[in-house]
Amino acid sequence: MRRYSVFAIAREAMRGGKGWEQQWSSPEPKSEYDVIIIGAGGHGLATAYYLAKEHGITNVAVLEKGWLGGGNTGRNTTIIRSNYLYDESAGIYDHAVKLWEGLSQDLNYNVMYSARGVMMLAHNVHDVQVLKRHVHANRLNGIDNEWLTPEEAKKYCPPLNISQTARYPVVGAALQRRGGTARHDAVAWGYARAASDRGVHIIQNCEVTGIRRSPTGAVTGVETTQGFIGAKKIGVVAAGHTSVLMNMAGVRMPLESYPLQALVSEPVKPAFPCVVMSNTVHAYISQSDKGELVIGAGTDQYTSYSQTGGLHIINHTLDAICEMFPIFTRMKMMRSWGGIVDVTPDRSPILAKTPVSGLYVNCGWGTGGFKATPGSGNVFAYTIARDEPHRINAPFTLDRFRTGRLIDEAAAAAVAH
Ligand SMILES: Cc1cc2nc3c(=O)[nH]c(=O)nc-3n(C[C@H](O)[C@H](O)[C@H](O)COP(=O)(O)OP(=O)(O)OC[C@H]3O[C@@H](n4cnc5c(N)ncnc54)[C@H](O)[C@@H]3O)c2cc1C
Repeated sequence: MRRYSVFAIAREAMRGGKGWEQQWSSPEPKSEYDVIIIGAGGHGLATAYYLAKEHGITNVAVLEKGWLGGGNTGRNTTIIRSNYLYDESAGIYDHAVKLWEGLSQDLNYNVMYSARGVMMLAHNVHDVQVLKRHVHANRLNGIDNEWLTPEEAKKYCPPLNISQTARYPVVGAALQRRGGTARHDAVAWGYARAASDRGVHIIQNCEVTGIRRSPTGAVTGVETTQGFIGAKKIGVVAAGHTSVLMNMAGVRMPLESYPLQALVSEPVKPAFPCVVMSNTVHAYISQSDKGELVIGAGTDQYTSYSQTGGLHIINHTLDAICEMFPIFTRMKMMRSWGGIVDVTPDRSPILAKTPVSGLYVNCGWGTGGFKATPGSGNVFAYTIARDEPHRINAPFTLDRFRTGRLIDEAAAAAVAH
């Protein structure tokens, strides 16, 4: 595949862009693959890419029931950070941040990673204690995180209202400067192009409807809307639909699926320099390169597979945004949408072998898995290739819900975006 470069852009500009090739090929499925990945979101595509690049396994298909990147990967608010409390989480999320830093060069595709800083606001004594605990824990793990006074927070993000008469006054903030955003579509497209380039088959409009097992219990392949496709190993990377797929193999998952919503405003000139999150009022905001304010809300309180979500949830979020940033009270909102997120009891992911031979699962990223995309794909590929976990994902087993060895980011963070 042709590499992207300034010279290629100049050449194509001269000939009306007629020489650009398709970014990835769309082959007919083969009768059998060494590895089938179910789900062409960022995590599934990244897994396929690293299987090919780092483990030399190229007889791989990624099966997608809809279009590539059309799940949560294309629906999220793209916040990237690694300032999680526990050592295990810090390990996997910071592995991802390190890969984000060189990802555009690695994929030869501009994923627009922008380390503009993620600031998490404290509104009361409890928030201050929790966020300072994060700052100290992160520093012990070699991860940047610093404490700001309200005045320092306003200097970093001028639209922020730090009036102490607000209903939820800002009393401090934790800032991770290496945190930021990336362009979600570009991440999916970049991984797809690079994986396809190494021989991976990406098959869209191919829904998996069954997982076939041999009499000994090992997987043998998948039933799909395009017929049966054999596989020696299967990786389920289907986010909100993980439990549906794992049921097909007879594995019951400790997951609940909820709608999570986001919305964008009309585009305006650059006005918002960073990412701001408030767990207490439950809102988070950044500005996209197109100029839209990108605003994230909370999950619905009930489980559902509807990709919409309740109106009162985004109303509540906008109340909070208007109070924290009065400058935006007259902005018009353009679109809102939802995605189905898969939530574990401890709000930490599962990247593991399963009790079924040849079946692996990568799920439970809930409301916060976009940031982990490169790291998750990287260690999940290792797990599939070697049939054992990488040291980074070794703690994220399915078994922890039986042994009780939880990684309780739920209690630690309250929200995991
Ligand atoms: C509104 C919203 C905001 C969010 N904000 C953030 C954020 O700011 N930062 C952050 O880090 N994370 C965020 N997240 C979470 C993040 O989007 C997800 O954790 C991450 O994108 C999951 O990626 P994935 O590749 O595992 O899943 P997906 O991108 O959902 O990919 C799974 C794919 O599997 C496919 N699939 C399902 N069933 C089948 C089947 N039977 N056969 C074939 N294919 C199937 C789906 O169509 C889908 O394309 C947000 C999520 C939402 C919904």
